[in-house]
Parts: sequence; C-alpha cells; structure tokens
Amino acid sequence: TLPLQAANETVAAAEPQHQQQDGIEARLQNLLAQMSTQEKIGQLALRDWGTFGASDMKAIKQAIREGRVGGFLNVSFSAVDDEAFAELQRIAVEESPLGIPLLFGQDVIHGYETIFPIPLGQAASWNPELIKNGARVAAQEASADGIRWTFAPMIDISRDPRWGRIAETLGEDPLLTSVLGVAMVEGFQTANLADPSSLAACGKHFAGYGAAEGGRDYNSAYIPERLLRDIYLPPFKAGIDAGMQSIMSTYSTLNDVPGTGSPFLFKQILRDEWGFDGFVVSDWNAVMEMVPHGFARDAKHAATLAANAGIDMEMHTDTYEQFFPQLMDEGKFSETQLDTAVANILRVKLRLDLWSTPYPRAKSKAERKQIIRNDQFLSAAKEAAKETFVLLKNDKQLLPLKKGQTVAVIGPLAEAAHEQLGTWIYNGDKKYSHTLLPALREMVGDEGEILYAAGLDYSRDTRTRGFKSALKAARKADVILFVGGEEAILSGEGHSRGDIRLPGAQADLVAALAETGRPLAMVLLAGRPLQLDDTLEQADAVMMAWHPGTMAGPALADVLYGETSPSGRLPLSWPVGAGQIPIYYNHLATGRPPTDDNYTRIEKIGREVFQHQPGNSSNLLDYGHKPLFPFGYGLTYSAFEYKDLALSDTTLNADGQITVSATLTNTGKTTATETAQLYVRDLVGSVSRPVRELKGFERITLNPGESRLVQFTLSPDQLAFHNADMRQVVEPGEFRVWIAPNAESGLEGGFTLK
Ligand code: BGC
Repeated sequence: TLPLQAANETVAAAEPQHQQQDGIEARLQNLLAQMSTQEKIGQLALRDWGTFGASDMKAIKQAIREGRVGGFLNVSFSAVDDEAFAELQRIAVEESPLGIPLLFGQDVIHGYETIFPIPLGQAASWNPELIKNGARVAAQEASADGIRWTFAPMIDISRDPRWGRIAETLGEDPLLTSVLGVAMVEGFQTANLADPSSLAACGKHFAGYGAAEGGRDYNSAYIPERLLRDIYLPPFKAGIDAGMQSIMSTYSTLNDVPGTGSPFLFKQILRDEWGFDGFVVSDWNAVMEMVPHGFARDAKHAATLAANAGIDMEMHTDTYEQFFPQLMDEGKFSETQLDTAVANILRVKLRLDLWSTPYPRAKSKAERKQIIRNDQFLSAAKEAAKETFVLLKNDKQLLPLKKGQTVAVIGPLAEAAHEQLGTWIYNGDKKYSHTLLPALREMVGDEGEILYAAGLDYSRDTRTRGFKSALKAARKADVILFVGGEEAILSGEGHSRGDIRLPGAQADLVAALAETGRPLAMVLLAGRPLQLDDTLEQADAVMMAWHPGTMAGPALADVLYGETSPSGRLPLSWPVGAGQIPIYYNHLATGRPPTDDNYTRIEKIGREVFQHQPGNSSNLLDYGHKPLFPFGYGLTYSAFEYKDLALSDTTLNADGQITVSATLTNTGKTTATETAQLYVRDLVGSVSRPVRELKGFERITLNPGESRLVQFTLSPDQLAFHNADMRQVVEPGEFRVWIAPNAESGLEGGFTLK
C-alpha cells in the first residue's frame, strides 16, 4: 500500500538480462585490456578521508586523476559540499586515464535521511514487503546524493543480546533472516541495477561476526562447520541467489582464522561452491587488523593474505596500493588474480551503469528537496514503525489507552529526538524527528490530558532528583506511561553491554511509579532485549518499540491509542537475564526432562503457560531453561485461536510435498494481525537435530469473529541439513510439525519422510 517509485522501466525493458550480461562481460574485458597495473590496483581501493591524512583535498584529487581510487565510503553530501562531491566524480570521469566512475558507498542501514526502525525492529515485523519498501525509500534518498552502494543488509545471525550490533541484525533465525535479508536486497537494488535509484547491496559480515564470544564486539567466533553451514551461512547464500552484488569480510577470527584472511570462506564457499560473481570488500581497516590478530607479520604480509583469500577491494587502508607491485614481482600475487579482482568490481560498476549516471540523481537543491524526507517517505517510515512494536504483556487490557484518560508520560526516552533514531544514522538528524509528546497530544486533542515529567534526564542517569515531579504527575493521572530503555549509543558497533538491565535509575523510577498504585504501561526503546526481572512485575503492560526512527512519535501514538493493534513478533528469544545467554529456540535437546520452576515464575507475570517440549531442559536454578519470551512471541489487542491442524498426507515422499493447515480465528474484539508460524522437528537424525526449526510464516489480518485457513507447504529440501561428513542431506524418518503463534506453543502433528 505504500506509494513507492517503480524501477525505471525504460532501462528494464531495453535488453533481456542475459544480453545485458554478455554486453557487460565484453565491456569489462575491453576495459581491462586497456588498464595499466596501477589503474587496476586503483580500482581495488576504497578510500575515506582518513586514508589521506587530514582530508588533504589536493592529494585526494590527484589520486583520482591518476586512477588510483576506485571508490569512497561514507563521504556523502553532508560531509563535503555538493559541488566538491560531484567534482571528485568529474575528475574520475573526465581526467582519469580511462574515465572509470568512482563508486560511492555508505552505511545506509535503516534509512538515509528518513530513518526507519533499526533492523532488529524491522525484523520484528516479520514482513518482507515492509522491509523491501524501507530499503527502496533509503535507496531513493541516498542515490539522490550520488550514493550507489550500501553496506547492508547485515545478515549476521546472533544469539547474544549483549552484542551491541544485534540491533543491526535481523535476529537469531536463518530462515527469517534469509527472507528479510533478500527483501532488503530487492529494495535496495530493484529488479534492475542500472536504475539510477538503485544501490548495490552488501551482505555482511562474512562470516560469523555475530557469534563474537561473550557478546564482546570484534571478539573471536568459534562455530563448528555444521552450525556455520546450517545457521550462519544460509542468509548469505539466499542474498547471493537473489542477486546481492557484494560481500563484506568480518573483522573477527572464525575458528582462529581472521575472516579477512580466509580462503575457506571467500574462495571455497563463496566462489567455488556458490558461484558468486560480485565483489568482496574488506571491512574498514580489517586487512591491517590481521597484524594485531597475530596472523600477519606486517602490512605487506596482510595484503598478501587478504588478496590470496579473495578480498577484492580494500576498505580504508592502502596495503594493496603499497605492496601489490612488489608482491607481483615476487610471484606472491599474479596478474591473473589481479584481473579477477578488478573484473569482479568493474562488473558491478557496469551493472550499476555508473557510466550513464555517475553524478548525484538530484540535479539541484530543489530536486533534492523533493526527494529527501518527502511525505510519502515519512508516511512509509511511520507505517513501518507501527508494525515493529511487540506487545509483551497487557494485563487487564490496559492498552490501548483510552481517550479521555489523563496520562502521565514519564521516563528518559519519552521525548528523545535523537535517541529514537538508534544506531548507524549517518545522515539522520534529530531535527527532523517526530517525537512522542506532540503526537500523543495531537492524538487526544481535547479529550484527555497528557502530563509529562521525564524523571531522569537520560537513560543512564542515576540521579533521583527528578523523581518528585514525576511522582506528582503520576498521582494526578489515570494511567502512567513510562518510556525508557536504552539511548541510541548503548547499542551498535563497539557498544556491547554485560549488564542488559534498564540502565541508570530507571528501575527505581519504575518501582516508585508502581507504588502510586496507578496502572502502569511501559514502552521500551532499545537496540536489544533487556533484562526485565526488576521491572516486569511492576508494569501492567509492556511494549517493545526498539528504536523506531524519524516517525517514532506518531507511530507510537497510533498503536498506543489502538488505531492499529500491535503486530510485531520477537525475531529472537528474550532472555530472563544476561546469565542465560546464549538462549535461542532452535537448540538441541539435552538428555534430561525439563523441570518446572520456570513455569511458576512465568505464571506469576501473567503470561500464558507454554507447553513442555520433551527433553530440552538445560536448567539454571535461578533463571530456568526458558527465555522470558520465546522467539516469535507477541500479543495483539485481540485474541487468536488456532484449531484443526491438518496434514494433506502423513507421508512426505522424496519428490513430493505436503500441506499443513489450521484454522485461525480472531476471537477478540478488534481487527488485528497474527503471524502464523510453521515449525518442524526431525525426531532422529544421523546428528542431533534442533527441537524446532522455523520453516514458514505468514502475517494474517482478521476482523473480530473472522476465520481463515492458514496453509503452508513443506517439501523435503526444506528439511535438509549438513551431516557428519558435511554433506547436505535429507534423511528419511519421523518429523513433528507445528502451526504456532510462537516457538514454544502451537498445534502439533506429525509425518514420515520416505
Ligand atoms: C563496520 C561495517 C561498516 C564499515 C564502514 C565498520 O566498522 O564493521 O559494518 O560497514 O565500518 O563504515
């Protein structure tokens, strides 16, 4: 329903894809034949101002003129004035030996100037269309400024909310991450890369970055090969199959080898097994970081290792430029290898057709103004945010708020124009944020009153001096709306936390508010799930809002007042406490049956009691073996019932498929959206198999009383995994299957795979 610009049809219609492809290969061979070694090496150089010392413009321009730069990162419109930006490209196109255009890349992660919810929030929508639209909006804005490449999607799987970059991920599940990652690629790239509003996408970080030990950023990852192939790699494979044009290497070591120096990852898997024909870029400074890793002796050795691992383009550092001529003389890197790397990059530049559209798409300030943050984009960002909110608890149906009530809005993030934007927002500016208070006031008009007292100045504030006025407001109100969580800076790169409770004195403030006896709703803004053991019982309702972006205020106001029911679902398991991490739904079973202590606690907080899954206990005396909220979980303002699970057949043949269906009914009083989820368990395998794996999902909107048949198809290839010999196999045997509202409940059936 979002009005978005269609791909440029005239270009799309011109030539069939394979002919374009042939044309591109011929053009790139032709270019290669004319290039000097220095120009070839130049194409591998992705520079930022930092590479050139103190942004020495003269040196930068000279390097471009000599064909020694292939592209720039993160130096967009706002970093230099528009003429300077176009001027760099002009020098490349008009004054460099072969006139090969520069490629401008940027971290366009969840919006460019119109900021959408953080990726983890977007993932909570379980809605590929929404994600595709968000990427499309971002691409239209960024390309207006001449950016044609984004360092997204981040499709690292993570099972550790302490890791700050979990905010950038799409959660813990390989299928959900694959589907949503592909949607993002499609939104950025469009069906036709030559469309001037398309951005080449970059899947990152290859591979295993999200498994950083202890959640400490950049830390070592240890991932057994089966887990790597079954859990961590599928989103990358899916992205590549969908045409994703580039891949970024990880900073971290994977099984003791820095990703940036791993021929196993880039030669064997990416090229030989998957046939990837785009290009590989190192992460920022990652080539040189192989020295402190103790893997490379020095810069020259680092260049050798990265180049021979298959890293085509070097980000930020210039070891390729410095050492390639020497390495080639010494026979440590060949002209053929160099040609391959250059071809991988030129192929993408040609597909983007930078030769036809090298300059920013917006030709004037006026044209830019029409594109950036236009009304359509803002409304798309608002609609997106609305679908990302996850209602975790709603006792006595405190939410939605009712007009006419006096609401005391309290908390450090209630009015936080910058914090609502979240991590990675190069061009995002709080100046354009639509915040909560004005939106709530507009929503209620003269029907009710919105009081406000922050109580704490910022999320980590430990001073209690603001409590008094907060409590005063609370006592005057019918309902307290506490808005807290984490500031933007508490998640993202290099921003991991060991303690994932509400920071500062927020829990004390919540406790004080609860003591007033007024009903208390809590809205959380954060880049990760938070430990809620000290606050959950005090709140009657809890809604997770992640960092919703530019349109946070109006989106929250709509959902809090019930214009729309919340529909978000957790894209990861929500731990009881940091000490329970890693906790994820697709784990193996232990040999011990579950114990019950956890269920008592769950009942205490008023949550539904989830069914037992036999044999999956790995208990902690204090935290139990269940997450606080399971993967896939989320409430609505209505209620849904699943009935009559049916399988089209109880036998699935090797070349066949079966359908699994159930009837879903909205048994509540409001129109709402349920996300039905299909899970399977392979009961006995040649290696132990997870207790559940997500195999499908669908968002279904139903009016009160309305029913619909939910139907999924299952075929044997969806049941494949890597066996002990690391071969991908489908093993006959017994399977359980569920259609479920989350990973811990649902209607259960079974079938036999022949
Ligand atoms: C991050 C990447 C990012 C790059 C460029 C690195 O520090 O790990 O995800 O794309 O910087 O900004």
